Amino acid sequence: MSPPSLIQASAPSSHSAPIALSYELFPPRNEAAALSLWNTIRELETTNPDYVSVTYGASGSNRDTAVELLNRLLTETSLLPLAHLTCVGNTADELAEIISELLDHGVRGILALRGDMPKDAPAEPRAGSLAYAQDLIELVRRVEQRRSALLCAGKVAIGVAAYPAQHPESPSIEHDIEVLLAKQRSGADFAITQVFFHADQYKDLVNRARRAGVSIPIIPGVMPLTSLRRVQRLGDLTGVEPSAKLLDALGRAEDAADSRRIGVEATVGLARAALDAGAPGIHLYTFNEHAAALDVLDKLQLLRPGRPQLASRAVPERLVRA
Ligand code: FAD
Repeated sequence: MSPPSLIQASAPSSHSAPIALSYELFPPRNEAAALSLWNTIRELETTNPDYVSVTYGASGSNRDTAVELLNRLLTETSLLPLAHLTCVGNTADELAEIISELLDHGVRGILALRGDMPKDAPAEPRAGSLAYAQDLIELVRRVEQRRSALLCAGKVAIGVAAYPAQHPESPSIEHDIEVLLAKQRSGADFAITQVFFHADQYKDLVNRARRAGVSIPIIPGVMPLTSLRRVQRLGDLTGVEPSAKLLDALGRAEDAADSRRIGVEATVGLARAALDAGAPGIHLYTFNEHAAALDVLDKLQLLRPGRPQLASRAVPERLVRA
């Protein structure tokens, strides 16, 4: 597949920050998936993202594969990892241990999440567990404090989740904003949104958040939805109502190529609208696949900073636009 065009040579003026670019990956479940993931990682690396995030199973079941992937990203690539971490499935002591381990390995970004409750979760939370993402943020800051000499000037960047459509367990969108504000007060540096299907939902979230005093960057999370099955599954997983228009268009797609074109176009439309509304970056949920993500990037033509590259990993000449 042809790699995307990134406008690098025309550096942004000192008054405007470049658009941040990041990708979400998940730890591979088997060897074949790992091989395919590493192909994706190498393709994504050529686009020089600001960071790549690595998901964490809320049951804690993929802890080892998540940590292994984070370590390999740190040692074998030029990419900066953002480690997802969830309250669900771990006690505070276990989480403190994982956070220490991640920091010792060189991770400097954590996405602090509560995690999705397993369907068979007991009514009573496990003793010593944390209830909310806010508690996890405070725990990360405590661990960071204990390691401040080791971290030198390198503060840990903490991201959190934000919801353009109401969180499924939340009583109201106003409550969602109160929670986001509380996460900021506890030490969150930035937020990444859950998937959304209507650009107005992102704009409304940012407007409501700003009015309430939330000042951290709120980065839209967009996912190239290139198959009907994936949109439906995503709706079930996240509780976000899929767009009827997209469902209809994907339902009428002639073949896989047509589905991909439809999904990419819809994602580009959402991302452009979010950027027009002032979004400071784009976070692409990749499903560990690079083709559609790179299509989206190619069409978006983001203004990105030129960066020094390791000689062996320089961005191919054809990616650099004058
Ligand atoms: P919280 O902010 O703690 O909110 C959870 C619920 O509790 C909400 O309904 C909120 O309104 C309510 N609440 C929060 N604080 C309070 C309070 N003080 N008092 C009363 N109510 C409160 N899940 C995973 O398992 N692994 C992942 O890797 C993962 N990555 C994600 C990445 C992104 C960018 C996003 C947007 C979501 C991700 N998720 C992941 C899903 C996420 O874990 C779920 O959406 C989860 O249901 C809520 O997580 P949270 O961090 O928003 O929780």
